[in-house]
Amino acid sequence: MALKDRVNPIERNPKERAKDFSEVSLGYTENLAIIEAKRCLQCKIPTCVKGCPVGIDIPGFIKQIANEKFQESYKILKKYNALPAICGRVCPQEVQCEGACVLNKMGKPIAIGSLERFVADWASKNNIKDEIKIEKKLNKKIAIIGAGPSGLTAASELAKSGFLVDVYETFSEPGGVLIYGIPEFRLPKSIVKKEVDFLKELGVNILLNIPVGNAIEPQELLEKYDAIFIGVGAGTPKFMNIEGTELNGVYSANEFLTRINLMKAYKFPEYDTPVKIGKNVVVIGGGNTAMDAARSALRLGANVTIIYRRSEEEMPARKAEIHHAKEEGVKFQLLTQPISYIGDKEGNLIGIKCVKMKLGQPDKSGRRKPIPIENSEFIIPTEIAIEAIGTNPNKLLLSKFEGLKLNKWGYIQTNEYGQTSIPKVFAGGDIVTGSATVILAMGAGKKAAKKIKEFLND
Ligand SMILES: Cc1cc2nc3c(=O)[nH]c(=O)nc-3n(C[C@H](O)[C@H](O)[C@H](O)COP(=O)(O)OP(=O)(O)OC[C@H]3O[C@@H](n4cnc5c(N)ncnc54)[C@H](O)[C@@H]3O)c2cc1C
Ligand code: SF4
Repeated sequence: MALKDRVNPIERNPKERAKDFSEVSLGYTENLAIIEAKRCLQCKIPTCVKGCPVGIDIPGFIKQIANEKFQESYKILKKYNALPAICGRVCPQEVQCEGACVLNKMGKPIAIGSLERFVADWASKNNIKDEIKIEKKLNKKIAIIGAGPSGLTAASELAKSGFLVDVYETFSEPGGVLIYGIPEFRLPKSIVKKEVDFLKELGVNILLNIPVGNAIEPQELLEKYDAIFIGVGAGTPKFMNIEGTELNGVYSANEFLTRINLMKAYKFPEYDTPVKIGKNVVVIGGGNTAMDAARSALRLGANVTIIYRRSEEEMPARKAEIHHAKEEGVKFQLLTQPISYIGDKEGNLIGIKCVKMKLGQPDKSGRRKPIPIENSEFIIPTEIAIEAIGTNPNKLLLSKFEGLKLNKWGYIQTNEYGQTSIPKVFAGGDIVTGSATVILAMGAGKKAAKKIKEFLND
């Protein structure tokens, strides 16, 4: 067995894909998936499983691919993960399952994420329907606030247990960040839609365009439902608040990506939403959001530079996305910190004043602390700046839940099962942990659903 030679999935040519929003990776053919699956050692103590936040039987589903039994493989995957086509595309595998694979010591780890995606796509193409098994119908009602991965997972688990589930969502489409944040070229929206359709088949009632706290008060939900799950994410953008933030051309990544993804600005004028894009775009930040904003701007025809105050090693974005961004032509200006925006007389952005940085000792996050270098100021000319430096919780809704305890950063405090200080209110996902990952949000939704069942059956 050739241990070293990892079989990579097929990807579209960077020059061609940088001009459109179609998916970058085309995944594996059956043949390539089988070859990659055969590299797995089927370890007696599979370290990869320990690295997976939902403990998928990884050697189990890979073995079935190697044996060409794709439907069996899908069954195993689905037992642990309700959204494998999504996780196979967006999970940070290099720090989870693949990071823990023993083959790291001998060569390249098994491409677990790509195999997961292959099986999920194969099942979809072959119209393999998930079994709908609903336990005895129960006459208890649950409200879920927010249709992101945490809310949708909680809804699916509770509906399968026979509860009546209503999901309230602010936006016009369910999916949370999967719809409004992660672009089509990384996660096609048809995949999210399929998962949501399955929820509808389970009998989950999804109510769109209803911001809880505005259109409906939490008190009304508390009176009407036997339990509530809050999965509203942490979508309020953070700004650096440097001089000139009010200039035309300064965006938050959140607004920029929502316009493009949810409101389909990339299809303007076919869709009504425009997005202002200059010749030059500078994106500030080093996470997945920064990569997504930069690659979206590039596809709209701009010359794009990412500026980040540390070095590439400290960037929190997935390695694959940094690699894809570079291949497509996004430039990286590292060890650089913006200090003010410069505008013209009409109030339009024309440049960013920056300072060069060096790295000091590791800070609380374990990453080396960036320190400004004296007298190193310089200007980057640009018409558009997109800040992708993180998010905060939305205070409005939470303040309306009387007695709901928050932590010092404003996120909801829960016990390890997702129960909040109000006994019939549960919470999970980014609104509890701060910005995290899709799989962790799903895990939180699943855990809280289990606890809600116990709570209501007591
Ligand atoms: C641009 C971007 C790229 C990312 N890339 C990755 C990646 O590659 N891999 C990865 O694992 N993670 C990634 N993440 C992080 C990941 O998407 C989140 O951790 C995850 O979506 C959190 O799920 P959630 O259910 O907690 O919240 P969200 O996905 O934020 O969903 C919350 C939902 O609640 C709704 N809502 C909010 N307030 C209300 C209200 N008052 N009433 C009703 N509804 C409300 C929102 O509209 C939203 O639909 C990325 C995040 C961003 C922003
Ligand atoms: S650790 Fe790697 S080689 Fe071992 S079972 Fe898991 S995926 Fe296969």
